[in-house]
Amino acid sequence: MKIILLGPPGAGKGTQAKLISNEFSIPHISTGDIFRANISEKTELGMKAKGYMDKGLLVPDELTIDIVKDRIAKDDCKNGFLLDGFPRTVHQAEALDEFLVNRKEKIDCALLIDVPREKIFNRMTGRRICTKCGASYHIKYNPTKVEGKCDLCGSPVVQRKDDSEETVKERLDVYDRQTEPLVVYYKNEAVLKSVDGTQDINKVFEDIRNVLGEI
Ligand code: ADP
Ligand code: ADP
Ligand code: ZN
Repeated sequence: MKIILLGPPGAGKGTQAKLISNEFSIPHISTGDIFRANISEKTELGMKAKGYMDKGLLVPDELTIDIVKDRIAKDDCKNGFLLDGFPRTVHQAEALDEFLVNRKEKIDCALLIDVPREKIFNRMTGRRICTKCGASYHIKYNPTKVEGKCDLCGSPVVQRKDDSEETVKERLDVYDRQTEPLVVYYKNEAVLKSVDGTQDINKVFEDIRNVLGEI
């Protein structure tokens, strides 16, 4: 099963991705997590990506597309993968399609987690993420069992620098301009599905499981 998660920042893509990846045993590929890991390891890619991310802007396509191609060419993606945060531009979507067509593969489902703008700010400012595995929590809606420590791996959880109110505004604008057009793109490819992302985390997951069960 080859799945793309779509939705604005804060929609719950990362949260649902962990659940889906577990349930369907497919790797969770988050470009945001890959960039953050590169930043903390101070790699060349990380240094280049950081400036864009801190401002809430997209990292340029030429730095992003090859990373994803290399990742999905790996053996563990043979039976499927779950892309979280990629593609984010029409150019990225076209590059992904071209790559898959050459391998005689295709996307089975682009799943939109639908959440209106006004719900997003609370989610983003209360978000905490694991410094090691990237798991996403919320101080109110999805707190860690032990304060400050990831449920999955025990590492410290922290606030993301780009989750400040100003940067979130910019990221939502970027989403509207550059990423939202992908909803129509995947509708035209007849693989778009959507779920109501305003419900509880478990209910959203239940809906996703139903949608994926029909594919
Ligand atoms: P969110 O949780 O808001 O969906 P991500 O963790 O997916 O955020 O991404 C954080 C930042 O990483 C983005 O604001 C952007 O700067 C960069 N980024 C992640 N994925 C991509 C991508 N596919 N193309 C360009 N930039 C990306
Ligand atoms: P994205 O990857 O789309 O940016 P996350 O999965 O990181 O989104 O979720 C953003 C924030 O909202 C996190 O703090 C997360 O715990 C919280 N969250 C995710 N799904 C829900 C939900 N259904 N209801 C309430 N809060 C949620
Ligand atoms: Zn963790």
